[in-house]
Amino acid sequence: MDVKTANDAVARRIAAMVERIEGMQRRNEYFYNLPVTELRGGSKVVVNGREMGMYASYSYLGLVGHPRINKAAQEAIDRYGTGTHGVRTLAGTLAIHKELEETIADFKRAEAAITYTSGYVTNLTVVSTLVGRGDYVFSDKLNHASIVDGCLMSGAKFRRFRHNDMDALERMLADTPADAAKLVVADAVFSMDGDIIDLPRMAALCKKYNAWLMLDEAHSVGVLGKTGRGIEEHFDMWGAVDIKMGTLSKTIPSVGGYVAGDKALIKFLRHASRAYIFSAALPPAQAAAANEAFKVILDEPWRIEKLNANARQFIDGLKARGFDTMQTETAIVPVLCGDDETAFALTRYAHEKGLFVLPVVSPAVPVGLARLRATVLASHEPDDIEYAMDVIAEAGRQVGLID
Ligand SMILES: *Cc1c(COP(=O)(O)O)cnc(C)c1O
Repeated sequence: MDVKTANDAVARRIAAMVERIEGMQRRNEYFYNLPVTELRGGSKVVVNGREMGMYASYSYLGLVGHPRINKAAQEAIDRYGTGTHGVRTLAGTLAIHKELEETIADFKRAEAAITYTSGYVTNLTVVSTLVGRGDYVFSDKLNHASIVDGCLMSGAKFRRFRHNDMDALERMLADTPADAAKLVVADAVFSMDGDIIDLPRMAALCKKYNAWLMLDEAHSVGVLGKTGRGIEEHFDMWGAVDIKMGTLSKTIPSVGGYVAGDKALIKFLRHASRAYIFSAALPPAQAAAANEAFKVILDEPWRIEKLNANARQFIDGLKARGFDTMQTETAIVPVLCGDDETAFALTRYAHEKGLFVLPVVSPAVPVGLARLRATVLASHEPDDIEYAMDVIAEAGRQVGLID
């Protein structure tokens, strides 16, 4: 059936989206899916033949293109080829997968770890394997979409508590049958706001109400903690998190996701989670790149110090220029704009001046809380950051966001 002639709900859905996107493109409000044609060092890219400063990357420690990591990937291709022989459970497991899982377990100070082919899939499969009908799952309202989808897919009773509000979480936990299985799940660092989960209180509640605790460290590994080991190191609360989930696609410049935890948990997931059993193994180059990246983080601690200094400079500088950066404490720096149009106008100006930043608008964030979602990297230099802030300030004055 042809989309153009069909007039059912599917066809209407497709047409509505196409119309919305084409409208944005006509109004010059569409900044997505822009192809980068070249990397220039750790913080610059070429787009449409023009060099731009990268302020929308998740490569917080600037490890994309790191020579040691590139070399590890190249050697893995020479040794194993580009694919695997299928799923991990059957013929797909390579020595490099075992090595990577040991590296992750060690980095997260856990007994064991399991890897999957994306972070998104990791949350889907892990949440829905751990809990099901009759169980309860408690999720922060600002959790990543992959956690939300995992909760929905699980069939467990799905309770969403107000963002980082531990009193709200406690009321919900207290309201749940004592003998029911409970899972509490949250981002460690929130991907749109840059704030940090209140682990001390959350862990205490999980203990009090006998709930399992799962944290998603997509934006905290390599970012939080003196050596970049994440949320438990940040609060000096080793062992507080039962299910330590993370991705291999942000600070770790590869692709994939993982869970670290107790041996029994990992063995269970290896034999019960469907994304492990029914989806092909990580390609060797990506596994080797991820494995090397964890080592680089430990060997080059200056990157974490520099990231912290850069985040400080960026947040303080934007605040001093009159912007609202919300509750951020990390390298994810929202610049609150309010309505979508202001966010688009700010972005357009920034792009013209060579800054690669992106707007986040509804439905990704609540209506009225549209923002630039800028990120700062260890590979930025203080002068670059000053320039970026001056550009954003000039744009902010033009659209009347600051004076
Ligand atoms: C990016 C992200 C994911 C998904 O990870 P991918 O590896 O990109 O699939 C999961 N959780 C959070 C909080 C994220 O930011």
